[in-house]
Amino acid sequence: AATEESRTYAAKIGAVLDLFESVCAREEAELGRIDAIAGDGDHGQGMAYGSKGAAAAARAAIEGGAGARTVLVRAGDAWAESAGGTSGALWGAALTAAGRVHSDDAAGTPAQTLEAIRAGIDAIQRLGGAKVGQKTMIDAAVPFLDALGAQDPADGAEASRRIVEAAVVAREAADATAQITAEKGRSRVLGEKSLGTPDPGAISFSILMAELGAHLAD
Ligand code: ADP
Ligand code: MG
Ligand code: MG
Repeated sequence: AATEESRTYAAKIGAVLDLFESVCAREEAELGRIDAIAGDGDHGQGMAYGSKGAAAAARAAIEGGAGARTVLVRAGDAWAESAGGTSGALWGAALTAAGRVHSDDAAGTPAQTLEAIRAGIDAIQRLGGAKVGQKTMIDAAVPFLDALGAQDPADGAEASRRIVEAAVVAREAADATAQITAEKGRSRVLGEKSLGTPDPGAISFSILMAELGAHLAD
């Protein structure tokens, strides 16, 4: 059963998902613009719908007294359902995997925060099957993971600092995808057209990690 501490922790996760919703709404037009150049133009909308659905599902679960695991698993299911599209399925799977790192009856630790992020990226890699260099969000997520490091953080301040620093690396890597042509997740015919424009999923990933780090550091 969810304890007092686990419910307080679940509410913090709900606040992160509310943040994701507002950031995705803020970035919707720009992400749509980038996706329109070599994709189908719906990445901004997908991220906005997905994060909105996830935040609503999290709020409902928290309201019902759920712990961290259930809140994240339900948020993941809702993200995939609300977003549609490739990135929606991947972000949904990531949140669900992040939830499975947590329990429902205890507060999460800073080590679990990093572990949950690693598990989320791992799920994106497994489900999507993309490799670095194929112009997908993996091109930002893998350098992010490397920069985050494998060791447990000493405390919450270290965990958030490492997320902030890794997000800078992810942003540089996302920007650098402008130099590659798309192979995976989009039409090869449009591949050449994407030269000079970064991958929208890599950009949105790096933005959300930067916002997460800044929020946790507060
Ligand atoms: P869709 O491609 O279905 O229209 P979106 O526009 O929301 O979905 O998302 C596109 C983004 O999804 C791409 O920019 C890329 O980062 C990511 N993506 C697509 N396919 C894969 C994959 N196999 N693995 C990882 N990321 C992927
Ligand atoms: Mg798209
Ligand atoms: Mg689409």
